[in-house]
Amino acid sequence: AQGVDATDPDLAKVLGRELKRQQDQIELIASENIVSKAVLEAQGSVLTNKYAEGYPGKRYYGGCEVVDEAEELARERAKRLFGCEFVNVQPHSGSQANQAVFMSTMTPGDTFMGMDLAAGGHLTHGKNVNQSGKWFRPVHYGVRAQDHLIDYDQAEEVALAEKPKVIIAGGSAYSRQIDFARFRQIADKVDAILMCDIAHYAGLVAAGVYPNPFPHAHIVTTTTHKTLRGPRGGMVMTNDKKLAKKIDSAVFPGLQGGPLMHVIAAKAVAFGEALKPEFKLYARQVIDNARALADSLQSAGFKIVSNGTDSHLMLVDLTPKGVTGADAEEALERAGITTNKNGIPFDPLPPMQTSGLRVGSPAGTTRGFGPGEFRQIGQWIGEVLDGLKTGGDNTAVEQKVRAEVLQLTKRFPIY
Ligand code: PLP
Repeated sequence: AQGVDATDPDLAKVLGRELKRQQDQIELIASENIVSKAVLEAQGSVLTNKYAEGYPGKRYYGGCEVVDEAEELARERAKRLFGCEFVNVQPHSGSQANQAVFMSTMTPGDTFMGMDLAAGGHLTHGKNVNQSGKWFRPVHYGVRAQDHLIDYDQAEEVALAEKPKVIIAGGSAYSRQIDFARFRQIADKVDAILMCDIAHYAGLVAAGVYPNPFPHAHIVTTTTHKTLRGPRGGMVMTNDKKLAKKIDSAVFPGLQGGPLMHVIAAKAVAFGEALKPEFKLYARQVIDNARALADSLQSAGFKIVSNGTDSHLMLVDLTPKGVTGADAEEALERAGITTNKNGIPFDPLPPMQTSGLRVGSPAGTTRGFGPGEFRQIGQWIGEVLDGLKTGGDNTAVEQKVRAEVLQLTKRFPIY
């Protein structure tokens, strides 16, 4: 059997260029990571050939006895990682995991409550362009103006007034610890189901360096590819047997057909890695590194939303520098540092411009960066964006930083 180099040089070139891009730049996108070769291998395996509609032991296809074992490994390891009794590892993505919860707990038109996207929530938590916002009736809580922490009092007021069926705790750009117990108290007051979406924090939760939503949550959803450092995918967890049955039916046959058995195998590998003692050290380092980056950015004159971080990510408020998130993202990319523009709480600018950048430490930490490297990265970000602020030609500083970034990435090679 010939490989892609021989059979498809056009696509092989694309793969090679993307590998080089990842090797040569500094990945600060908070939702990305660098998976192990073992995860890549499982995902690129013959399990991609297999149809396995159903669940282990109850499939609609023959020949599933081997892939059943892969799914069982993934399930058993996930349960141990998060300390829960039931898990569905089949959702193709975090969005589908959330959809499965909606399908198993609500009917179209029902009210649910999530964090406002503008405050750090996710599209699937009720944005009007997403199915969650089109088919259901979302109401929102946000963060407080004075400290950018979740406004739990507001969340309680909204819940009491609107009686949501489901309350979502979790988000994509919230850097602080979430008080899951408080959310459960609010949910209990209105008889709502508490769903915690830990897509961003999952690896930190698994390692015990961020609060575990169990036992407070009725349902926990996550992606598997962010801090958890597995393949792109999702999963749903619960301790409630009745909910578990409904969730299984919602994932299959409610939303999906055949599960991606190669991805489930890769999830099993990643969960196995996350159960090892080294992963605890990794997760602790992720948070130490994020704090070093936040310090260094503050020293360089940026504001950090909520004045710091308890996790792998932070929102950088660019307003002191007079540059937009869009311009900053582009300039940093030219300098070899990949980030994403992101609205900050109460942002006056639209989502395609924004006053902020979201940055995070999971990928850099995987390649071996420590606090020293992250402090250096903060300085580089300052140099590049100070150049932009003056409105002149920023090419020289971007090229200088690009060259220094290359030296650093060579010292910490990947793949
Ligand atoms: N939930 C949260 C909190 C997220 O941050 C994300 C991804 O950005 C998702 C869900 C959706 O995951 P996916 O991109 O796999 O659909």
